[in-house]
Amino acid sequence: MEFCKKCGGILIPKKVGGKTVFVCRNCGKKSDGGIGIIISEKVKSEDNIKTIEQRKEELPTTTESACPKCGNREAFWWMQQTRSIDEPPTRFYKCTKCGYTWREYS
Ligand SMILES: [Zn+2]
Ligand SMILES: [Zn+2]
Repeated sequence: MEFCKKCGGILIPKKVGGKTVFVCRNCGKKSDGGIGIIISEKVKSEDNIKTIEQRKEELPTTTESACPKCGNREAFWWMQQTRSIDEPPTRFYKCTKCGYTWREYS
């Protein structure tokens, strides 16, 4: 968690022109710091993607959901906690043919 140097408010990450900048929630001041945090978050998400890629071959497949991209009826699926812990995990699908990944909206 990063705090504003000017007013001490919480800094919220915002995407501006493809880059992530931290903007104060209270006064709107952009932080020039926080680069370390951006890098570590990026590494973390890449690790996450890699884990999914590595697990891909072991994932169960389903014919319940057709690929929205190529129409293939077989897809790998897995559950992932995307929001807070008290909300149900989201089911993700990955097409066995074209590799397109999508999530199930309930
Ligand atoms: Zn501020
Ligand atoms: Zn597909």
